[in-house]
Amino acid sequence: MDILDNVKDVYALIKKLGNQELVEKMLDLKDQIFELREENRNLKEKLSEQESYDMYFEDNMYWDANKKDGPYCSKCWDDNKKAIHLHKYNGIYYCPVCNNNVSKEQHNTDTFVDSNIYIKI
Ligand SMILES: [Zn+2]
Repeated sequence: MDILDNVKDVYALIKKLGNQELVEKMLDLKDQIFELREENRNLKEKLSEQESYDMYFEDNMYWDANKKDGPYCSKCWDDNKKAIHLHKYNGIYYCPVCNNNVSKEQHNTDTFVDSNIYIKI
């Protein structure tokens, strides 16, 4: 039995009692259940989207093995699991959301890349 079916049954029983305060509390409870169901649905959708990726970290960027796509911003993925494509400009990949940037050509030996800052070591 669905939770809303239970709510309807309980509401019908409470209504028979004729206690208006109890009826109003039940209606508040019904509204809260609707909100929780909506929040739960949104969280499931978000989780399902995140699980559709098979991210691996390489060259200071994320790549999706499932979709054979990338690169994605490591900061956005690590912080909140948002798959944001990096844009390439003059050999540097940058994130249009958080401005994180990565230089793929020099990453292994002489560069350190941090959010918003490109530093030569
Ligand atoms: Zn980002």
